[in-house]
Amino acid sequence: MRGLALFLLPKYRHDGSLNYTIRRLKDKIATRSVPTGEVELNNSEAYLLGRLEWGVYLILEVLNLSRVANSMGSVAVTQRVLADALGFAQERTAFGKPILEHPLLRKQFEDRIAQLESAFALAWEAVTLLDKVWRQMPPYSEQYHLFRLVAHLAKYWTAELAAQTAKWGMEVYGGVGTLAEFGMDRWLREAMILAIWEGTPHRQMLDGLEVMERKGAHRLLLKYLEPWAEPKALREMEARIEAHLKLATVEKEAQVEELFRDLASFTAAVLRSKLT
Ligand SMILES: Cc1cc2nc3c(=O)[nH]c(=O)nc-3n(C[C@H](O)[C@H](O)[C@H](O)COP(=O)(O)OP(=O)(O)OC[C@H]3O[C@@H](n4cnc5c(N)ncnc54)[C@H](O)[C@@H]3O)c2cc1C
Repeated sequence: MRGLALFLLPKYRHDGSLNYTIRRLKDKIATRSVPTGEVELNNSEAYLLGRLEWGVYLILEVLNLSRVANSMGSVAVTQRVLADALGFAQERTAFGKPILEHPLLRKQFEDRIAQLESAFALAWEAVTLLDKVWRQMPPYSEQYHLFRLVAHLAKYWTAELAAQTAKWGMEVYGGVGTLAEFGMDRWLREAMILAIWEGTPHRQMLDGLEVMERKGAHRLLLKYLEPWAEPKALREMEARIEAHLKLATVEKEAQVEELFRDLASFTAAVLRSKLT
């Protein structure tokens, strides 16, 4: 990573000509209103940001910000899916009544609305912490390490929830859910990108593991959650993480998914009680 520098590249050169060449725009599954393409930089004018050797660190700061934004975007997609599905379920009748009044579907709505509230609480915590630490430079404070863990949990968990909820929303619509004209396919496509850009779920898990291992961020998180959490559940989660961190390197990485998922859903549920 040494030798990577970060530059600000204006759209136009001083002489008014375009500062880059677009080779092609890509046809992608979603976020179509934000073009993605390949650009060539030939004799481009650019301004160095910070120092030459700071590039990677500065771009990691950008990722901190964009992961929090992504978490809020994921919560928004989840909420939109639930709102659309609810409207549909109130209108569509099967076996003599609106499908929302069938116990199985009603229970699923209740559970998913609770999940939405938890996801919002987790994403909002990431926003609140970012607001406190975004100006920090190395050496970072404990609060910064806490933020990093919360941001990884939020990015991972909210994007997973958005994709799962959009898949379920399509099922609520039944057959017409697969038709573009009913809109659910768009939320599913948008949700699939939320999980990948700004770092895939694997990246969130591995970076989350790193900040727990190197900075003890899980202890900071569990202490932070203390006022709203069941003491027994907190102790069990802490013991589980400590045991995991003692595993051999390969096993520690290979087994991290279940732990990270449970820590994210636990944190989100506790933060939901903080908000309510
Ligand atoms: C629509 C769109 C827009 C984007 N816009 C931007 C942008 O503006 N700027 C920008 O910089 N990037 C952008 N990206 C890139 C995006 O951040 C990357 O695609 C994403 O982080 C994944 O990296 P990759 O594609 O290189 O995957 P790869 O690194 O090739 O990874 C492939 C798979 O291997 C997994 N993997 C890799 N390493 C490990 C490991 N150690 N352990 C376990 N699994 C691993 C990954 O998680 C992934 O599942 C964009 C992507 C998309 C889809």
